[in-house]
Amino acid sequence: MSEEAKPQAAASAALTMDKLVSLTKRRGFIFPSSEIYGGLASAWDYGPMGVELKKRIQEFWWREMTQLHDNIVGLDAAIMMHPRVWEASGHVENFTDPLIDCKQCKHRFRADQIPEENLKERKCPDCGAKALTDARKFNLMFTTHMGPVEDEGGLIYLRPETAQGIYVNFKNVLQTGRVKVPFGIAQVGKAFRNEITTKNFIFRTCEFEQMEMQYFINPSEDAKWFEHWKEKRFQYYQDLGIRASKLRFHQHGPDELAHYAKLAFDIQYEFPFGWRELEGIHNRTDYDLKRHAEFSGKDLTYLDEQTKERFVPYIIETSAGLTRTVLVALCDAYEEEVVEGETRVVLRFHPRIAPVTVGVFPLVRKDGLAEMGRKLDSELCEEFRTFYDESGAIGRRYRRQDEVGTPFCVTLDYQTKEDQTVTIRFRDSMEQVRVKMAEIAPTIRKAIKEYRRPGA
Ligand code: ATP
Repeated sequence: MSEEAKPQAAASAALTMDKLVSLTKRRGFIFPSSEIYGGLASAWDYGPMGVELKKRIQEFWWREMTQLHDNIVGLDAAIMMHPRVWEASGHVENFTDPLIDCKQCKHRFRADQIPEENLKERKCPDCGAKALTDARKFNLMFTTHMGPVEDEGGLIYLRPETAQGIYVNFKNVLQTGRVKVPFGIAQVGKAFRNEITTKNFIFRTCEFEQMEMQYFINPSEDAKWFEHWKEKRFQYYQDLGIRASKLRFHQHGPDELAHYAKLAFDIQYEFPFGWRELEGIHNRTDYDLKRHAEFSGKDLTYLDEQTKERFVPYIIETSAGLTRTVLVALCDAYEEEVVEGETRVVLRFHPRIAPVTVGVFPLVRKDGLAEMGRKLDSELCEEFRTFYDESGAIGRRYRRQDEVGTPFCVTLDYQTKEDQTVTIRFRDSMEQVRVKMAEIAPTIRKAIKEYRRPGA
């Protein structure tokens, strides 16, 4: 088995969305929804690799936001909630986008996404015709009906954010969770928004997943906790393996602040189509709990047993998109380089989130190597997500794993039969080291713990 040649930078290695959409389809990450029927606009399905990546990111977030804190608990609230929730939250009244149509080409725009000059002249940014309509308010919540009769009485909404499920359970968690302010409630789940413009692949979709943690605090400490979570959440993305140079904060100006927010920062990522929001960190004050107290008639105050102070907690919200983080992970991981005159596409995921952690390859099927490979695979899969592959040239098997971001490949060859050693091939450096079978798991464990992306 020969070592692979040293890589060189590829001439036109810049990532485009077309390249990413094509790779993710080809390698089983993401497919257009209901594709055999022609697809459904901006709805996507996560294939075998995509669902693993999404699960890994979710697990990483859950560990960071619950397991590592003794004062943050989890929750999984229903998607369909009492309709009064959305009146109290302000969504029925305020969760609108200004919608503008072009009468000529029939394209739809959010007014805030049309350049000023176009708005002035009513000129369509797409077809150039002076045919833009006035802006009208459009509520982004999907509605449906509960029960057999489609009347007003059965009208309900698909939740447009997971946060409200947390607020309406504040009292339940307080009474049962043995928690004291400050404490947090974390939740991951689907949210739905009837977005006017959905482009850029999975960046903005009508059905998506959020990972939210709402932190309940004494109002006098809001500045301290806001700063705390702002820094923690920025560091989190670096721990996830995202390059710091591609991350930045954006503070909301007075025109951008949501109706409930006192202070808001976005964490933005530099996508191939520019800097965009990935997560919002908001000081929501006591707006939500006060509104729910008012609309439900229930007491949602908190009594501090030590100081005897009674107050409505402020909430510091950290609201991240799970499906949007999948896009960030894919964009950030993508690299091309030239090896022996051929382009190698490699996804440099942090090993903690890679869909497959270890590839297991017998060099050939015969002479008992396949049996040994299968046995090794069945041992390693107890601890790692593995992929067993026994067919094709070994170089091609490595390249296929590079394209799905598998950080380690273990190959068994004839020497394995003699001395129980295998080679571990590292995705980033393509370096191969020979180790005893018993050393595979500890070597991989160590490499995951100490992982650093080349050049980072
Ligand atoms: P935007 O201004 O881009 O519409 P937003 O400020 O309304 O987003 P939030 O309500 O703060 O977004 O939602 C928190 C997070 O949820 C966002 O940072 C994003 O990661 C994710 N998110 C929101 N809307 C969508 C969507 N339509 N598709 C995918 N992810 C979304």
